Amino acid sequence: MRAITVQPGVANSARLDDIPPPPASDGTILVRTLALGVCGTDREIVAGAYGATPPGEDRLVLGHESLGRVVEAPPGSGFAAGDHVVGIVRRPDPVPCPACAAGEWDMCRNGRYVERGIKERHGFGAEQFRIEPDFAIKIDGGLGMLGVLVEPTSIVAKAWDHIDRIGARSRAWQPRSVLVTGAGPVGLLAAMMGRQRGLDVHVLDRSETGPKPELVHGLGGTYHWKGLAALDGFAPDILIECTGAPAVIRDVLGRTAPDGIVCLAGVTAPGHAFEFDIGGYNRTMVLNNETVFGTVNANRRHYEMAAQALARADKDWLGRLITRRVPVARWSEALENRADDIKVIVDFTD
Ligand code: BGC
Repeated sequence: MRAITVQPGVANSARLDDIPPPPASDGTILVRTLALGVCGTDREIVAGAYGATPPGEDRLVLGHESLGRVVEAPPGSGFAAGDHVVGIVRRPDPVPCPACAAGEWDMCRNGRYVERGIKERHGFGAEQFRIEPDFAIKIDGGLGMLGVLVEPTSIVAKAWDHIDRIGARSRAWQPRSVLVTGAGPVGLLAAMMGRQRGLDVHVLDRSETGPKPELVHGLGGTYHWKGLAALDGFAPDILIECTGAPAVIRDVLGRTAPDGIVCLAGVTAPGHAFEFDIGGYNRTMVLNNETVFGTVNANRRHYEMAAQALARADKDWLGRLITRRVPVARWSEALENRADDIKVIVDFTD
């Protein structure tokens, strides 16, 4: 079968390979892949900067944003042929640490977790994959190709879940506004979930025109493109940082209203030193009870929250997030970063 494979650590080693069908050891459910979403993590792996092969192998099947249709599933598994499914990315560490033992592999404490398509386990970027029932999410078939958005939405579902838990430290916490920095897929999905919670949603990005401002307006949100400095005086209750850009991160710290929460959800390469008034920042943070936290990955509950959020969302709006669909034969085009791209998917149905 055709599969997109890569040699992690080696730049531009990705290729369309012919590999054997998925081994039974990958799980009892056999899935026919419909679509694969591509994100910054995949581009980093293809650039040779991230990722690891399964032990003893020299290539990794790429892809962690999956959507497929069940071909066969064992009786009693809760799945049947024809079901639309998405695969959970992370698997608990083998120890397991207390977090993994509690089903919170997204909070793994020893780093020995594995991730499909990223770290030591093959991904979903092949015509078929196998998966364990405990790590498959059944989704509403009515979502069609939009089901490929479940994995990136699970990332923001976790961010919102943790924002709620942190907010609950005060009995009076009733947030009214959220500012999201970065109008990529994660930022826009975070904004969508903010809107579903009835918040006044603001999104900041660099594009002045094009699909990003239109999508934010489509949510009933306010779009900003002139930089954080132009937001003069606006202090959101919640700030979700999705750019991973060092200068943006420096500028979002200390920007919330008192008791505010800053969630860092974008990953940055190390090596960006800035002059920063840590004393001034500490003073603001302490005197305002500000919280800054980072979040990565998602557990099963977050995938379920994501599937529900997508089921409630406007399908036309979600459809506009997928700005390019690339047939698997031309897979490499999906990894190109083009102007006005939001979510690019590889279509495995051709
Ligand atoms: C994935 C997460 C993963 C993270 C770090 C992200 O792109 O969506 O599931 O934990 O990369 O590997």
